[in-house]
Amino acid sequence: VAREGAPPHTSPPNPLRPKSELSATSVMESWKEERTRSVEDNEMSLPSLAAAYTTILRGLGEDPQRQGLLKTPWRAATAMQFFTKGYQEKIIDVLNDAIFDEDHDEMVIVKDIDMFSMCEHHLVPIFGRVHIGYLPNKRVLGLSKLARIVEIYSRRLQVQERLTKQIAVAITEALQPTGVGVVIEATHMCMVMRGVQKMNSKTVTSTMLGVFREDPKTRDEFLTLIRS
Ligand SMILES: [Zn+2]
Repeated sequence: VAREGAPPHTSPPNPLRPKSELSATSVMESWKEERTRSVEDNEMSLPSLAAAYTTILRGLGEDPQRQGLLKTPWRAATAMQFFTKGYQEKIIDVLNDAIFDEDHDEMVIVKDIDMFSMCEHHLVPIFGRVHIGYLPNKRVLGLSKLARIVEIYSRRLQVQERLTKQIAVAITEALQPTGVGVVIEATHMCMVMRGVQKMNSKTVTSTMLGVFREDPKTRDEFLTLIRS
């Protein structure tokens, strides 16, 4: 659920808990490049975005003045801003106060996280499910935060391979776990609606880091558990 009305760039800095062994600086360093957009930016760019949609309607051979389309440019612009609201949020805000010291050293798995993204090549939806597993190293993350990380990165213009990797890297940097595995199964509307038109074709991507990459037994355990 979006935290509407709370533009991250106006909030006070949220460093990770000082108690954490993790170097907050290094995390900030790797994530500060993140593009951000504020609620104010949305309001400011809405008219030009809507005007662009009017141009698109005309270019498609439609009449933007016909009754059914009168509000479409504004609706489409607002919807597109929502579909890409991941630009308004930063991973660091989500992780703040959600990392806990814990001696748990068994695999943590959250599977079937719903994911809705936008293909950056065609600007049409990619949707599917994300499965995440990690082997903690004295530090765990609040379970709901895994879904939040998925949401922040997926609500941007994406390619599935990068989305998969970004999620895995974010978890690695936050928790320094022994290993991380991320698997995404997704349907690309640009593949389903055009080209091959295979209704049920799914694209599967995975990123395995640490022991998930090095140890076949750990990886197999993860892959078996997300399929059960
Ligand atoms: Zn595409």
